[in-house]
Amino acid sequence: MANFTDRVGRLQEAMRASGIGLAVLAPGAQMRYLSGWAEPGHERLLALFVPASGEPAFVVPALNAAQAAANPAAIRDLRSWDDAAGWEGVVSALVNARVRERAFAIDDELQSGHLLALQRLFPGARWEPGSALMARLREVKESDELAALQRSAAITDAVYEECVRLLREGMTELEMVALLADAYERRGARADFAIVGFGPNSALPHHSPGDAALADGDVAVIDIGCSVDGYASDITRTVAFGTPPPEAGEVYRVVLRAHQAAQGVARPGATCESVDRAARDVIESAGYGERFIHRTGHGIGLSGHEPPYIVAGNTQALRPGMCFSDEPGIYLPGRFGVRIENILTITPDGASSLNAAPPADLPAIRPAP
Ligand code: ZN
Ligand code: ZN
Repeated sequence: MANFTDRVGRLQEAMRASGIGLAVLAPGAQMRYLSGWAEPGHERLLALFVPASGEPAFVVPALNAAQAAANPAAIRDLRSWDDAAGWEGVVSALVNARVRERAFAIDDELQSGHLLALQRLFPGARWEPGSALMARLREVKESDELAALQRSAAITDAVYEECVRLLREGMTELEMVALLADAYERRGARADFAIVGFGPNSALPHHSPGDAALADGDVAVIDIGCSVDGYASDITRTVAFGTPPPEAGEVYRVVLRAHQAAQGVARPGATCESVDRAARDVIESAGYGERFIHRTGHGIGLSGHEPPYIVAGNTQALRPGMCFSDEPGIYLPGRFGVRIENILTITPDGASSLNAAPPADLPAIRPAP
């Protein structure tokens, strides 16, 4: 069971250290991290207000009040508002009573309309992004968070192993997506996303699956993930269907070496950019530097993408308990792409993978005779 009081306490400590009087968290991962609860308010303001000291308060539309009152963190200060009166009076009263420092940290995911209304309500206040404060809290995972990430990873590994065997000539990308969704559902999980790219579509890192049908000679990229108890998983595998293009085996081995090089340098104290650099060096020296068109990885937890980002320019040092993707890729437009992705966790002396090891060579699926 998460220690919500401890999390709020650590946030408040960080707020006081940077002179922030109030943090406003939108209904999403930040709110769930601190309270165990979040429900979308859409155009109605629904937010967790955390003053620099004392108990946090929920400001919620009347129609969400009962659900908010049952929040797992047992936050009791609940201020509901109704449509006719609006929320401004409730928020003014809360801030005037509880917030000394007029410096507000705002969740990146708070609707801009709500932020603009808050800015009209408190002219002259200082406004800061809330993401940096929350990132420092969330990026080192607690043991129950690691256990949930591990369960999520195991389900995604199993779903991949089951579904890759079902690839058939003529199957469309969307048919594969449906099989993946079904395999998740049978394991009690829901697919968060699925990128399936056949043939030239495998060269599009963020391809939207469509009606492309699998043919002999295609490279297929499958990038999938789900959430288990709120915690995300995310893997990518690349396979060849039938006889792959001549260069595909070599490209696969380069990407795998890059993936392994990143894992090899990831350890406490290593910078995020050094991990990206390790992967990029392998791909550049093989002559494909221009075709590795994204960062090496992203943190993962309650959100599918969150800090730390494994990218050039990020000099942040890794710490035990951080979890992030290691997902180099090479994309040859109009031909094929290869990406290999596992989730790594930083251990006291290195990095270990939450997922099964990727195959040492480009796996070839034989078309049925
Ligand atoms: Zn992915
Ligand atoms: Zn990823």
